[in-house]
Amino acid sequence: MGAEHWSDEEILAGLYGAGPVDGHPDECADCRQRWELMRRRQEGLRLAEPDLSGAFLASQRRAIMARTEGRSRSSGLQLVPWLGAVVLLLLAILVNRPAPKLQPAPEVSDAQLFEDVFSTVSSSEPRAVETVRSLFQVNP
Ligand SMILES: [Zn+2]
Repeated sequence: MGAEHWSDEEILAGLYGAGPVDGHPDECADCRQRWELMRRRQEGLRLAEPDLSGAFLASQRRAIMARTEGRSRSSGLQLVPWLGAVVLLLLAILVNRPAPKLQPAPEVSDAQLFEDVFSTVSSSEPRAVETVRSLFQVNP
């Protein structure tokens, strides 16, 4: 008896065929007793498993099928996924249309450009801004 005693985990693994292979419970009375105790508990658990008869499983299946069929019939929303897909497709087509070709801009000198920008800025200013601005001007 040179080997150490098996732990409970090793005995449990041995019951499922995954424990150590040194055969210690065959030689050690203490480990053999613990092995037998765990084996009896395992047998008790196996016998206590519920009996799933064919009739019970068939009734479960019928109940599930009745519930899913009732749900699919009662919901008139079966077309929603199709309509959503069609709307998304139309949006994708509308968004991905090719952009119109840009006309090349006419040649404009820098002085003309600045003049255009200045006239746009000065003409787009409302009259109210002018009076407000005059309030903040410092006159010498
Ligand atoms: Zn032992």
